Amino acid sequence: IFRVTISKIKDQNLVHGYIIVLQDVSKIRKLENLRKEFVANVSHELKTPITSIKGFIETLKDGGIEDDDVRNHFYEIINMETDRLIELVEDILTLSFLDNDNNLKTIPKERIEIKKEIEKVIYMLDMACREKRIVLKVDMQDDLPMICFNKDYFRQMTINLLSNAIKYSNDGGEITIKTCWSGDRVKLTVSDKGIGIPEKDIHRIFERFYRVDKGRARKEGGTGLGLAIVKHIVQSQGASIKVDSKVGEGTTFTVLLDTTCK
Ligand code: ADP
Repeated sequence: IFRVTISKIKDQNLVHGYIIVLQDVSKIRKLENLRKEFVANVSHELKTPITSIKGFIETLKDGGIEDDDVRNHFYEIINMETDRLIELVEDILTLSFLDNDNNLKTIPKERIEIKKEIEKVIYMLDMACREKRIVLKVDMQDDLPMICFNKDYFRQMTINLLSNAIKYSNDGGEITIKTCWSGDRVKLTVSDKGIGIPEKDIHRIFERFYRVDKGRARKEGGTGLGLAIVKHIVQSQGASIKVDSKVGEGTTFTVLLDTTCK
């Protein structure tokens, strides 16, 4: 896409020529469109729980619900929808922070013990695994070197990958977390034997609000921002991530982490 600007070269009302400037605005337009799309998506995502909360509050306010159980069920829904809103707003704030290059410079990198951090995340997600009767296998190489990564972001990245593995596994599924190292890199893989990702969607899953199956993703309670956050975290820490997947067989995310703080 080009923007054309034409100006006359004049000398005492005599036109000597024209200057035609062609400016390639494709990138600006693309960014503008992305921004518009993001705002539209955010508005839509916020509106769904707000509309639901409003509906239940109106019904409760009218006082027509006499059954205590039904009323408590309504309170439960309002509570869940509010949690969803909080999660969404937190994810949006995290993304907008990570989007700003100046902020990235302020994130301290530290030397962390990967095994210890992964164990904490597993502990946090233990309940979610139990609910779906998921078998979690942990295979961590001994004598792993420390990695250089921000501790909070490492935790968030691992939570997002592992909670996706849980969400997109079937009941009774199997998930493996593996770490090994060679040279100055530690390899972390999170593999599941869940629903998998179709080839045509795989290059888009790190986009904001991109979901393969909107219905399933919503039911599982995701914000659609988890992997966009993971990608930003990985980039901000100088690591890399790749994904391999096969529909019906499962998905593996591989993160390569630095052991040296540059
Ligand atoms: P969501 O909140 O919808 O899970 P994410 O950004 O975390 O959002 O993931 C984007 C989409 O990528 C998901 O909606 C899902 O379709 C797909 N996805 C992510 N992780 C997995 C996985 N382990 N197995 C299958 N599909 C996955």
